[in-house]
Amino acid sequence: MNDEPIDLDAITRVDLRSTSTVYGPVRSWRVGFSLGIDLLCLNSICSFNCTYCQLGSIQVKTNVRQLFVTTGKVLSDLAAGNWRKADIITLSGSGEPSLASNMGEVIEGAGAFTSKPTLVLTNGTLLHLPSVRQELGLADRVYLKLDAATEESLRRVNRPVEGVTLKGIVESACKFRREYEGYLALQMMFVHSNQREVEAFAKLIERVQPDEVQVNTPTRPYPDGWYLASRGSHEGVDYPAKPLKPLAPETLRDIVNQLREATPGSKIVSRADESD
Ligand code: SF4
Repeated sequence: MNDEPIDLDAITRVDLRSTSTVYGPVRSWRVGFSLGIDLLCLNSICSFNCTYCQLGSIQVKTNVRQLFVTTGKVLSDLAAGNWRKADIITLSGSGEPSLASNMGEVIEGAGAFTSKPTLVLTNGTLLHLPSVRQELGLADRVYLKLDAATEESLRRVNRPVEGVTLKGIVESACKFRREYEGYLALQMMFVHSNQREVEAFAKLIERVQPDEVQVNTPTRPYPDGWYLASRGSHEGVDYPAKPLKPLAPETLRDIVNQLREATPGSKIVSRADESD
């Protein structure tokens, strides 16, 4: 696996002097109005390249932590942003936030400045690093993506960088669960290629013991290229994008029911419940 940091000059596609690392707030399904912080911002940068990613095909694939945007820049964008209208501050944006080596500093700084709760959306591929677990531990909430219950579906749905395995992610997630005192949710996106792995997903829920499991199917369009605006809510999309083929509502409902039956005591939430 390549452990060299990326040459930022070669990948940067925005002018940071005129681009904010802060966006929204946007209405979010689980947390109300969420103000986004984008620690990647220069391009789409991730250790996964999920088939349904709202950023389109990931431009820069890496699992190496480094500094992309300084903490000073992020906190000054935050001070100039619309944070007072937000219910929560969410680190997400143009890729995997734990790739940014200043993630912990920003969680602390943003929480202290706004006095709002903080949330990180992560794919868990760096959870094996004690520094990442410690920094995520500073957030009030962590939502951990888990779309695969087998190594094969990890490769098919998430298309990770070399060296990332489901076994490694799940072992690290269990370790993080034991250490973390905040609210941990698993985010499961069901698509056509993982919809038959429900039994195996139930076993992973029992192993990780999250506070909540969010079960959905992707509905946001898939952009033809990378557009900074794709990190937001996708309302009124004004760039070329293809619609996705989500699972049918009754199929998603069936998956939710099977997971509830197989994991009594777990809290399973889904947009499928809203269409009842
Ligand atoms: S983990 Fe998130 S940002 Fe990365 S490719 Fe998947 S959906 Fe996109």
